[in-house]
Amino acid sequence: MKVITRFPPSPTGHLHIGGGRTAIFNWLLARHFGGEFRLRIEDTDATRSRQEYTDSILASMKWLGLDWDGEIFYQSRRLDVYNAYIDQLLETGHAYWCDCTPEEVEAMREVARAKGEKPRYNGKCRDRGLKAGPGRVVRLRVPDDGRISFDDMVKGPISVDVSELDDMVLRRTDGMPTYNLAVVVDDHEMGVTHVFRGDDHVSNTPKQILLYQALGFDIPTFGHVPMICGPDHQKLSKRHGARAVVEYQKDGLIPQALVNYLVRLGWSHGDQEIFSLPELIQLFDGTNLNSSPAAFDPDKLKWLNAHYLRAMPLDELAAMTRPFLAELGYDVDQEKIKSLLPMYVERSTDIAMLAQALTVYFKSADEIVIEDKAKKALNDDGRQQLSRLHGLISAMPVFSAEALDALLHDYVEKNSLKFKQVGPPLRSALIGLAGGPSVHDIMAGLGKEESLKRIRRAAELAS
Ligand code: GLU
Repeated sequence: MKVITRFPPSPTGHLHIGGGRTAIFNWLLARHFGGEFRLRIEDTDATRSRQEYTDSILASMKWLGLDWDGEIFYQSRRLDVYNAYIDQLLETGHAYWCDCTPEEVEAMREVARAKGEKPRYNGKCRDRGLKAGPGRVVRLRVPDDGRISFDDMVKGPISVDVSELDDMVLRRTDGMPTYNLAVVVDDHEMGVTHVFRGDDHVSNTPKQILLYQALGFDIPTFGHVPMICGPDHQKLSKRHGARAVVEYQKDGLIPQALVNYLVRLGWSHGDQEIFSLPELIQLFDGTNLNSSPAAFDPDKLKWLNAHYLRAMPLDELAAMTRPFLAELGYDVDQEKIKSLLPMYVERSTDIAMLAQALTVYFKSADEIVIEDKAKKALNDDGRQQLSRLHGLISAMPVFSAEALDALLHDYVEKNSLKFKQVGPPLRSALIGLAGGPSVHDIMAGLGKEESLKRIRRAAELAS
């Protein structure tokens, strides 16, 4: 059997990390078994669905590296298909027309509630033999008895008595199919064999299984993934990281880090934390999924991202950093970025931070703002050292990090100074900061002319 999974987002918002994780699980399962991963846009809610969200979801999928197979299904273009299956259900007696008003249905629910039963439609129109007509819906005829049981890939065996289930609406008064009908039809037509989705859908699954049975379709294997919760084990809020994938992208996260993080949030392989993508594909077979909610931990995500950042080839990292610098107003050469990166990868946890640190290399000398902490080093002695060093550096025949390092050590030694009398004033002059990479590396990154300008400017600052 070929494993076919799917991800069916509703384009009513950007792709959030919860949806992203569900997509990753489905993608990994398909890739593990050499199957297919399909994509479907559930856009039947015309008032809330927007093209810009479809575009954004697809862009986030691509950014995460989740490629899909075959054509994308758009539910809004498939109304005839749904209606054909609804007709089939009507013809086979598995469904019926109903003209009860929403008020009547609510009153039935009220009666059930008053009796201490599950609120539901009482089956009034089941045998009235109604035909299509304005204001009418189509309902599923739920069998009178029996149980619906399935073995959930995450939660284990689940069993529900059909008496718990309602004669649910399949086709609304406006002719649109309901979620449950459209999902079953599409999953069948796409050949879906395995479904991972959020456990907010677990109560829909028995209803969908009834539909699979009524339509004579094979039933896929389901896995309901618990929600991601906040560090306090409460519902994940925006403040905790319940954000769109695109926001993490803007924050400078590395997609592989986010994928690694989200997979571990609900799946484990011993206590291993870091997984390459090929490793995940090899190991993820739909087992070892956690049935209790996982807590989102922003510090761990940061740690993982820093790990990926440091492990990334410099060419790739430079290519990723370039658009961030462009966004900050510095449209600069990728090779130049690459040459500066080694100074900052160890000091950064994300690409936005990296790009921010590099801006100082693309500013002009008079744009350098010296932070308060860095001003201390520019006292009389510091400025005097800068004046002298200016002369020595301008006379250097070869300007390189090694030559600068040698020059500075020589200077300190010959003048019986401490290195902290030259390092901090230089760093303040060059980048305006009290901390950062070695001054010889900074100067090599800036180049001779720019380094000298900045040293002169700081040496001449009034105390
Ligand atoms: N469009 C549904 C959602 O975003 C899909 C649920 C499912 O996977 O069946 O919740």
